[in-house]
Amino acid sequence: MNEINNELKQILMLIFLDLDGTLINTVHPDWKPYKDGQKDYPVSQIPIFTGVKEFIASRKAKGDFLAIVSDSHPRYVNPISEMLGVEALSLTDKPNNKKILEFLDSRPQYKQMVAEGNCLMVGDTKLDIELGRRIGALTCWILPYLITKDIKDERDGIGDEMASKKMGPTFTVKTFAEIEEIIDFPLNNLYSIESSFAGGQSLKAIRFSDNKYKDGSYACIRCLARQEQGECDKYARADKYYLMSNPNRTDELLQKLANGISSFINQPAVQEQGWDYFTYLTDKASTVPTNKMKAIFDLVQTSIPKIELLKWNDNTQGSLRNRNLYNERKAFLEQFLTVSVPKEKVIDLFGGETEQLISIQEKNIIVLDDQLTTGATAWHVIHKLKEKGAKNILFIAMFQMVLAVNNNDVICPRCGKPMIMKIRRSDGHRFYSCTPPEYRGDGCGFIIDIQN
Ligand SMILES: [Zn+2]
Repeated sequence: MNEINNELKQILMLIFLDLDGTLINTVHPDWKPYKDGQKDYPVSQIPIFTGVKEFIASRKAKGDFLAIVSDSHPRYVNPISEMLGVEALSLTDKPNNKKILEFLDSRPQYKQMVAEGNCLMVGDTKLDIELGRRIGALTCWILPYLITKDIKDERDGIGDEMASKKMGPTFTVKTFAEIEEIIDFPLNNLYSIESSFAGGQSLKAIRFSDNKYKDGSYACIRCLARQEQGECDKYARADKYYLMSNPNRTDELLQKLANGISSFINQPAVQEQGWDYFTYLTDKASTVPTNKMKAIFDLVQTSIPKIELLKWNDNTQGSLRNRNLYNERKAFLEQFLTVSVPKEKVIDLFGGETEQLISIQEKNIIVLDDQLTTGATAWHVIHKLKEKGAKNILFIAMFQMVLAVNNNDVICPRCGKPMIMKIRRSDGHRFYSCTPPEYRGDGCGFIIDIQN
C-alpha cells in the first residue's frame, strides 16, 4: 500500500518567479521610481500578465510552493506579493545568489527541494537564468511582452533574446499555460536530445535564429541540447558532448543522440515544410573517432533522402575549436569547407545509364552538425548552399554551447581559492577544480570529485 502511495504522490516543486516583466507588465522605464521604492503605486492597478493569476492558483492547488525573487524595493514588491498570495524576496541583486541562499537556509524544506532538483526559476532576462543556474535550479525563460526600443536595457539585458538564450535556460516559453505543462511533464518538454538522455521524448529545440530572404525562402538554426560550462541543471549535456568524441563511445550513446534528432525532424511541423535532402558536416580526415558524425547521421530515422553535400578539404589544417573569434572561424571555413554535390545515376534518352550531378537548385535541405558556438559554421554553410541555389535550409546542431556560470561557492580546502566546476573530456565526469596555471587558472590544482 505504501508503494502505491509513493507512486501516486506528485513531485512538489519550488517555483521562483521574477516579478517585473515576468508576472507584471512593468518593464517600461516609467516604472523605475516605484520599483526603487520612492513612490507608492495602487496595487489594484498593477498590470498583471495574462494567465499569471490562474497559474499561481493552479500550482498552489497542486501543492507547489511559490516565491517572487525581485531586484526591486520591498515597498513595491511586498504589496504585489500579498495581492498574488505568494512569498517574496526583494533587492536580490541578480545574479547574486546570496539572498536566495539565505532564504533557503531559513526554510529547510525548500532547501531540500532545490537539492533534489525540484526547483524552477522563471524569468524574462539572462540574469534570472544565471541566478537559477547558480543554485542548480531548472530554468524557464519567458517573454510575455513585446520588445520595443524604449524598454531595452543593456545592463539587465531586458529585451535581449539572444543573451537569454546564450545563458542556456532549460525551457523557453511564451505563456504561463506552457509552464504548467512543463512542470507536469518536464521530461517531454526538454530539448529533444536532452529528453532522449533523460528517458523522455520531445519535439523541442532551441530556436537559435530565423532568417527570411527576399525571395520568400528561409534559413533557421536549431539546437537540440545544451553544452553547459560550469553550474547548470542536471539535464544539460556537456558530458555527452565530450563522450561523443571519445573513441570508446558506446552504441547506446550514438543511438540516443540519433533518437533525439529523429524525434525532432519527424514531427509534423518540420515534415510539412517539405524537405528534399538530409545532409551533415562530414568528418575531417583527421577527426577522432573516424566517422564521428557519420555514425550518428546513419542512425537517424527519416524518409528524407540522405546525401553528403558538405566536405572538408583533405588538407584541412587545424581545427575550428582553436579559433575563437567569429572572423577567424569564417576565414578558416572559407578555406576548407566546401559544397560538393554528388553524382546520381540517371537513364538517358536512349535508355542507357549515365551519371549526372545532383541538383540542389530550389531544394529544401536539412543540415546536421555537432556543435554550435558562434554560429559561424552554420551561417557559412547556409550561405554556401544558398549560393548553389538551395531554397529553405534547416540547420540543426546537436549541442549549443552556453555561457559559463561559476558561483564561487565551493572553496578549495587546500589554498582557499574559489573552485570551478569542470567536465573531464575523456568520460564526461564532473569535478570541482582549483585550476592551476597550466590550465590558465591561479589555483593549486586540487580537485574534488562530483558524484553524478
Ligand atoms: Zn587550491
